[in-house]
Amino acid sequence: MKMWVRRFALLSLCVTLAGCDFCGLAPIEAETIGFVTVVPQGFVSSYILDVGGGKLVLIDAGSNAEAKEICDELEAKGKTLADVEAIVLTHGHSDHIAGLETLTGVPVYAHSGVTEQLGEEVGAALAGELVEGEPVTFGARSFSIYHMPGHSPGSVSVLVDGMLFFGDNAASTDQGDMRLVPENFSDDVTRNKEDLEGLVGKLEGASIDTMFFSHSGPLTGRSALDAYVADL
Ligand SMILES: [Zn+2]
Repeated sequence: MKMWVRRFALLSLCVTLAGCDFCGLAPIEAETIGFVTVVPQGFVSSYILDVGGGKLVLIDAGSNAEAKEICDELEAKGKTLADVEAIVLTHGHSDHIAGLETLTGVPVYAHSGVTEQLGEEVGAALAGELVEGEPVTFGARSFSIYHMPGHSPGSVSVLVDGMLFFGDNAASTDQGDMRLVPENFSDDVTRNKEDLEGLVGKLEGASIDTMFFSHSGPLTGRSALDAYVADL
């Protein structure tokens, strides 16, 4: 059995056992907000970003090795993999990279901390490293990178034209608040909180339209982030 299958099975078991850790999270729905289409795959979501000129960028590749939901959404948009300029990974956990087994031929960008997992689990190599302070441009959009190693060593958050993607660096509640993902899924919870404090400092004055979280639904604006950090 492939490693990602084992990890997915383990994660699913953990989700079942830890059930209430996930209670109260904002539900994930298939929706398009501005230039971002949310593609749910059960308990995790990936995103398709319109970067202009008919080109798309994926954020994360999902938990499904066949990438079925992502391929279906591309088809619904009248697009193919050839229209996807890049896949940007928020981190290397199995439920975010499994689809790379199918989404081949598209350049993959991630923090260098993800390189080993990519090679071991899906046989993929990085086309480029995501480095904080070095924005990358795809199509007409600039992607700013924030390294947040508390959840995992290669975790980043990504800001694209007012859309802020947290990956597993945070989650949203059905009350519209921010919280962490269940603590047993993160390497260093204290560092995770420090990462979020640091992010608020780095984003001071920045206007955020929507915040996206991999295991829960999006939140409008940045007030939930500011409130969470103010309470730490
Ligand atoms: Zn994760």
